[in-house]
Amino acid sequence: MAKTMCSGKLLSFSKDKSYLVGSIVSFLILCGLWSVLDHSWSGASASAMEKPRYSVLGKDEQSINRSKNPDPPEKTFYDDPKLSYTFGSPPKDWDEKRRVWMKLHPSIAAGDGGKVVVVTGSQPQPCESPVGDHLLLRLFKNKVDYCRIHGCEVFYNNAFLHPKMPSVWAKLPPVRAAMVAHPEAEWVWWLDSDTVVTDMELQLPLEKYRNHNLVINGWEDMVYEKKSWFGLNTGIFLIRNCQWSMDLIEVWSSFGPLNPDHEKLAKTIVPEVKDKLFSNLDEQSALVYLLSKEKEKWGDKVYIENGYSFSGYWLEIVDRLESISRRYAESERADAGLRRRRSEKVSGLYAALRERYLKGTHDGKGGWRRPFITHFTGCQPCSGHFSPSYTAESCRSGMERALNFADNQVLRNYGFFRPDLLNSSFVSPLQFDSP
Ligand code: MN
Repeated sequence: MAKTMCSGKLLSFSKDKSYLVGSIVSFLILCGLWSVLDHSWSGASASAMEKPRYSVLGKDEQSINRSKNPDPPEKTFYDDPKLSYTFGSPPKDWDEKRRVWMKLHPSIAAGDGGKVVVVTGSQPQPCESPVGDHLLLRLFKNKVDYCRIHGCEVFYNNAFLHPKMPSVWAKLPPVRAAMVAHPEAEWVWWLDSDTVVTDMELQLPLEKYRNHNLVINGWEDMVYEKKSWFGLNTGIFLIRNCQWSMDLIEVWSSFGPLNPDHEKLAKTIVPEVKDKLFSNLDEQSALVYLLSKEKEKWGDKVYIENGYSFSGYWLEIVDRLESISRRYAESERADAGLRRRRSEKVSGLYAALRERYLKGTHDGKGGWRRPFITHFTGCQPCSGHFSPSYTAESCRSGMERALNFADNQVLRNYGFFRPDLLNSSFVSPLQFDSP
C-alpha cells in the first residue's frame, strides 16, 4: 500500500530541479516513515499469520484438538475406490454408510435429524443481462441470510459438474455430489437461483416430512392423474440424504442428456406429459413422467406440498408485499414482545410469537401471511430472456420488491429497514419502542 501511494505522488512532481531534489528527499523520508508506520499497524496480525498454528500448541493441546474435531483414521465410504460423486453407480447401503460415518464423527453429527444443506448455483459464465450478476448476488445473499439465521449450510455451485447435464439438468449433479460431501446432512435443499426466501422467520416444517424423502411443490392429481407439466415444480425441492434418494436421482437423471437415447426418449415421453410448453425433455417433464409411471415404487415417499408457498408464484405475490409489510408492522406496534430488539440468532424464534396475529390468514392470494418462497419462474434474471408472458419491468420490479421485502426482515436485526421496497438504496433507522 505504501509503495502505491508514494509512486502515485511522484508522478505529479514539479519540473523545477532544485524543488524536485528537495521534494524527493523529504518525500523519501515521508515514504520511509509511512512504511514503518504502515508496517507497525499491520505487524501484529502479519506475524500471527506467518506462524503455523500447530507450532504454538503443546503436545497435550494437539491431542485434545484431535479428539474434539477429528477425522479419525478408520476407513469409511470415502476410502472405497468405487465411491462416485456422480451418476452411473449409486452407492449401496448408503443409509448404513452414513450412520457409520456419523458414529466416527460425533462432533459433526451432533444434533442430526434436521440438518439441511442448501444447494443452489448459476452458470459458469458471466450473465448476459447487464444487471444479471448483481441480481444473482442479491438472490444468493438472500439464501445466505436465511441459512445464517436458521443454521443451514450453503453450497453455491457455478460449474457444470457433468459435461452432459447442462441447462435445466445442471441442478441434479451438485445435489447428488452434496449428498456425498455432506453425510452429516439429513436433507439437501435445492433452490433455483431465481427464488427468494420471503419469510425469513419460517423454518422448514421438517417434522411434517419425517416419513417422506422428497418434498416438492405441486398437486397430486395433476401429477398422477393428469400427468401435467404444471403438476409439480422442480425449481425447489427437498431431498433426504438416503439410499432411496440416491436411487431416485439415478433414475431421474437417466432421462437427461447424459443418456445417449435422450432424444429418442424425448419423442416418446414429452407427448405423454400434458401442458408442456416446449418439446424438449426437461427435468420437470421427466419427474412428472417417472412419478406417474412408477407411483407404486416412489409415490409414498414423495410429499407433494401445496399447504404453503414452498414455491410461490411471483405474479401472485409481488403486488401484495407492501400491504403484507404494513400488516406485520401493525402487529409489531400492537405487541411490545414482537417490537423489541433481539439478536439475529434468535430472530427465527419470533415466528411462534407472531402466530396469534396471523390466525385466519394465509400466504396465498387474498391472504397477508408472508409467503415462504417467491419463485420468479420465467424471469430468467441472469440471461434477461424472460418469458414473453411477462414484461421486463414486471420481472425487474417484482424481484426488487421481493428482495427488499426479505432484506427488511434481515436489516431489522441490524436496526434498519427500507421504507420503499422499490428503492434499494435508501434505508432508515428502525424505531423499536414506538407504541
Ligand atoms: Mn426457477
